[in-house]
Amino acid sequence: MDMCVLPNMKFRLKSPEMIVEKAFVAGMWIEGEATSAVYDPANGNQIAAVAKCGTSHVQTAIGAADSARQSWANTLPVTRGKLLRKWAGLIREHGEDLAIIIVSEQGKTLQEARGEVEYGAGFLDWFAAEAERGHGQTMPSHKPGSSLRVLMQPAGVAVAITPWNFPLAMITRKAGAALAAGCPIIVKPAPETPLTALALAKLSEEAGFPNSVFQVLTGDAPTLAKALIMDQRVRVVSFTGSTEVGRILLEQSAATVKKVSMELGGHAPVICFDDMLVEQAVEICLPAKFATSGQDCLAANRIYVQRSIHDKFVELFAARVRTLKVGHGLDPDTDIGPMTKHSVAEKCREHIADAVANGATLICGGSHSLAEQFVAPTVLSNVTDDMLISREETFGPVAAILLFDSEDEVVARANRSEMGLAAYVLTQNIGRATRVSERLEYGLVGINTASFTGPPVPFGGWKQSGLGREGSHHGMLEFMEAKYICTGGLAA
Ligand code: ADP
Repeated sequence: MDMCVLPNMKFRLKSPEMIVEKAFVAGMWIEGEATSAVYDPANGNQIAAVAKCGTSHVQTAIGAADSARQSWANTLPVTRGKLLRKWAGLIREHGEDLAIIIVSEQGKTLQEARGEVEYGAGFLDWFAAEAERGHGQTMPSHKPGSSLRVLMQPAGVAVAITPWNFPLAMITRKAGAALAAGCPIIVKPAPETPLTALALAKLSEEAGFPNSVFQVLTGDAPTLAKALIMDQRVRVVSFTGSTEVGRILLEQSAATVKKVSMELGGHAPVICFDDMLVEQAVEICLPAKFATSGQDCLAANRIYVQRSIHDKFVELFAARVRTLKVGHGLDPDTDIGPMTKHSVAEKCREHIADAVANGATLICGGSHSLAEQFVAPTVLSNVTDDMLISREETFGPVAAILLFDSEDEVVARANRSEMGLAAYVLTQNIGRATRVSERLEYGLVGINTASFTGPPVPFGGWKQSGLGREGSHHGMLEFMEAKYICTGGLAA
């Protein structure tokens, strides 16, 4: 696991100018009040220093977005769609460079980063078409001589606060919807992964969006987020991140009663019934747990396995996990990259230590440190519901396997979480699959698959996993307001 043999990010790019270290405000590339370092999480090397914007930059960005608002709202939806498609095309054209940038600041594998580029561009294409479907309604009138209709109109200036685990796709999923709906959007990326956001801004400029409809502010998260959210000219806040931060942003949004859309934490249960072929269950659980090195809000946090196949599952699953290679994401052999943040690696170690101290069996991996920011892919069995890992989101490559006996029991245990984002049901019994998926208190349920997200589906959680939906027509509605218009006096 020698991290130093790989060439520096900049020397691997076809277009080194894709690395931009300035913020994109009011159509200009600006220096900040200071700089904020960006590190490669695999080796701790500094790879860039981006602008650290302050509250004056926030004011400039909001003012510019507010000035651009009316004209963007009046731009024909078909024209908005063409620009979104152009942007998507440029993202694909520079896809390999974007993937290298994602790996360098986030840590995932190059193959996963390439997947994210395509996934992210797909949202722009999808919303490009959806721009033309911001349909309203007409209703039969309940009043004599009047006509009733509902228009769907852009809600105004939007703000996106995005996380570091999908630094590209979480921006395009929000910006695609906002821009299609007719709202200018200001993006504040996570401080760990600003380079992808700035590269997207560069390509948005090349795509030819009008001035200030897409802006990126980099710098300290709490300072920038607060200044953006407390401003009454901002009408929509779309956030993806932890439930803890989501609560803070909700409180701040309350002061000006903003529309909010929140994709917060998850704690996904996988329910594997004993009618399932064990080999097939293992191949679904591997990506459900280890994609993006486990740093995914859809990641399996509790793998419930029915008693009669439990031991065989643990054996086969662990055998596959032992083959996963840990390393730098740019190394083609790597399956598991570094944790983007040191605190995530620490949390993984804490969850492993707590589980083992309370009676779980460590099958492979463990809390021993590889390099500081790496966590060995780990399998724990005999995990119980009271352990930390069964209650808190792990966000890393640690698999917790729990035993269950009956359908009623496992549904109750799966629902006992305050999180309600994704759940997985593995069974060959169609009645059971239908019944259990309908009883789960989760916003997304995958039956016999670990791959089910994308532009056409409403992505979002129940309970403390969030508010609102992203992707699909629901996603665009988060950036729109309904206006009911009654025309009276029509009687001849
Ligand atoms: P963490 O990085 O600790 O896991 P999140 O995943 O919630 O936190 O981060 C998601 C986004 O929220 C990132 O853009 C991050 O910079 C931002 N953020 C973190 N803390 C705050 C805060 N106190 N106020 C506003 N935004 C924040």
